[in-house]
Amino acid sequence: MKIRSINPATEAVLATFESHSREQMDAAVAEAQAAFETWRERTFDQRAVPLRALAAVLRERAEQYARLITLEMGKPITESLAEIEKCARNCDYYAEHAQRFLANEMAETNARESFVAFEPLGLVLAVMPWNFPFWQVIRFAAPALMAGNGAILKHASNVPQTALAIEEAVRDAGFPAGLLRTVLVAGGDVEPLIADERIRAVTLTGSSDTGSRIAELAGRALKKAVLELGGSDPFIVLADADLDGAARTAAKSRYLNAGQSCIAAKRFLVMESVATEFEHRFASAIAALRVGDPLDRATEVGPLARADLRGALDQQVSESVAMGARVVVGGTRREGPGWFYEPTLLADVTDEMPVLRDETFGPVAALRRVRDAEEAIRVANSSRYGLGATVWTRDTTAAKAIARRLESGSVFVNGLVSSDPRLPFGGVKRSGYGRELGSFGIREFVNVQTVWVGPANEPGANVSAE
Ligand code: NAP
Repeated sequence: MKIRSINPATEAVLATFESHSREQMDAAVAEAQAAFETWRERTFDQRAVPLRALAAVLRERAEQYARLITLEMGKPITESLAEIEKCARNCDYYAEHAQRFLANEMAETNARESFVAFEPLGLVLAVMPWNFPFWQVIRFAAPALMAGNGAILKHASNVPQTALAIEEAVRDAGFPAGLLRTVLVAGGDVEPLIADERIRAVTLTGSSDTGSRIAELAGRALKKAVLELGGSDPFIVLADADLDGAARTAAKSRYLNAGQSCIAAKRFLVMESVATEFEHRFASAIAALRVGDPLDRATEVGPLARADLRGALDQQVSESVAMGARVVVGGTRREGPGWFYEPTLLADVTDEMPVLRDETFGPVAALRRVRDAEEAIRVANSSRYGLGATVWTRDTTAAKAIARRLESGSVFVNGLVSSDPRLPFGGVKRSGYGRELGSFGIREFVNVQTVWVGPANEPGANVSAE
């Protein structure tokens, strides 16, 4: 099978790769396993050296890697550059803090000494998406490697050059050869990898359907999985909100990366009394967005990453319009080469429409009016997803009370939902389970090991075996 890299802005084929054979996959796993055996013995200080070097490599090659991201998946170049810098910051963060997060925890028991240690698991298989093709990988890899693990990367099939560039950057940073290996295979071919005894855990960032499939395979092989899946984040605007700030942030959240972000605000739940005003301000912010060549530094919205994704989005829009949604801005594909879609705002949206019920992975915002905060919470929680949520109000006490009632992995008050190495990231419901980033993220792929050193100082206290 062929794996092709296609420029979404021009539809030109950039490169074609033969997908890896079973033998090649096996060799990659063997190499990563051998590297892991030496890597696990290193101290945190020793592991931090190549991780800091990786941050430096990313910064040195920022222009080159950013251009590659933009060419392969269509993100505006300024966003690609910001993505590379974010990756470098994540490396610096875990190089500095991993030791503290994974320090032994002493426990007072009947032992002379007892403590909890955090030992590496082994090789982690990472099945990754194309939408933040460097960030999603480094988000998982920096903590996983600092914890002493190795990694096999199976990246999305539309970003093979980026997948190889990440492998190259890790190698050039001075990690043991092969500690992170890329395999170029299609999603349907990961089953033998998950079943492989040398793979100890799986992490997926992708759609909820793929999450179900990976969870099933990991469950069968009794392997731990972390699943970072889809989202349909609510963006709640209460009557006393800063409407200008809310509208500007709404436009940024929804149209960044042409709307292809799991934590983009997708459902705008706005109180009746301010809905018309918010709609005007939001529509003007959208109309001002510069759509075009993603390599141009002035461009704010590029094409969608794949033709099929644009087709699916277009269908969600036309079905919703047929059900009575009102097109305020956009609502169509853009003619010409490239998989562009007009930044779109649909109003008068109701709960059963696809744009509200399902995840929209592109530049389409759905505005639904709500009577009050109670209705906003009810509609927000009616989604099958639970990744991020935003609340806009000047009453932060009320906002924090609302946050506690929202079923989502994060709640941002008066700001843009985003990921930050210092805060855990993940979801509930069909948005997945497990956490990345912060201290929680680095503890996902470790053996939480109890160490009990006798003799017991309370004779007979530890004789009953559970
Ligand atoms: P996807 O189809 O699930 O693809 C993601 C990865 O899974 C790719 O590497 C893909 O490989 C692989 N894959 C696909 N089908 C598979 C299968 N049956 N078995 C094993 N692996 C399989 O996701 P997408 O549509 O490209 O990406 C967008 C989705 O990802 C959205 O739902 C978005 O919300 C979600 N996402 C979530 C987060 C988060 O952090 N929560 C972040 C970004 C994106 P191939 O490319 O070879 O098919």
